[in-house]
Amino acid sequence: MIKNMRQQIVAGNWKMNTTLQEGAELAREIVERLDQPKGLVVFAAPFTHLTTVQTTVKGHINVHLAAQNCHQETKGAYTGEISVDMLASLGVEFVLIGHSERREYFKETNALLAQKVDQALSKGIRPIFCCGEPLKIREKETHVNFVKKQLRESLFHLTPEQFKSVVIAYEPIWAIGTGKTASSQQAQDMHQAIRKAIASKYGKRIANATSILYGGSCNAANAAELFSQPDVDGGLIGGASLKAADFLQIIQALK
Ligand code: PEP
Repeated sequence: MIKNMRQQIVAGNWKMNTTLQEGAELAREIVERLDQPKGLVVFAAPFTHLTTVQTTVKGHINVHLAAQNCHQETKGAYTGEISVDMLASLGVEFVLIGHSERREYFKETNALLAQKVDQALSKGIRPIFCCGEPLKIREKETHVNFVKKQLRESLFHLTPEQFKSVVIAYEPIWAIGTGKTASSQQAQDMHQAIRKAIASKYGKRIANATSILYGGSCNAANAAELFSQPDVDGGLIGGASLKAADFLQIIQALK
């Protein structure tokens, strides 16, 4: 479903972790203990787990399923790949696009990610578009321009109507899986810059309606401080999404 309002979201990126049984148990425990979340909860589970996790989240209106990747073509001879049609047929509503691990290890470029965004939107799947700078760029203080270029080259070809379905996740690469979180001020500054860039392209109304999540060593202890920032609309959570109690606490931290 295509949404058109600013939503608070906590999305768990399980990456290549959990067996099917462990993933099913993780989702079950979280969903069972979920107490009126103030926003959407998203499980970005491995492809192999999606059908099983779907049966757990079904009927929970605030809990949604995401894939961690999709292919840029509709179908065909791409052995081992997964199309958005396949994802849509499972009831997947979101897909992570442009995670820094895919950019780094699988050489995904801004241009390729633009194609993936188009594919996802063509089937009504909402991209959670990940952007963020490496440490070298942060140290040179060119991080805002770096992230704006990522947005320009992968998203800003969209029509305003299409863009309304996109969720942004700002994930400074130096903070992912390192235990080194961006300060809430660093997160706020970048989120504000992202929202300004969106406003210049699509206008203030759309910019204010766009959910911008923070990702990078967000955990149960620092989530409330990060989420309290006016332009931080929740988080994309890696490591801490694999522990039900921690993930539940992060969801509770939504403002
Ligand atoms: C991520 O990979 O999207 C992420 C935010 O990881 P972590 O929370 O483990 O830093």
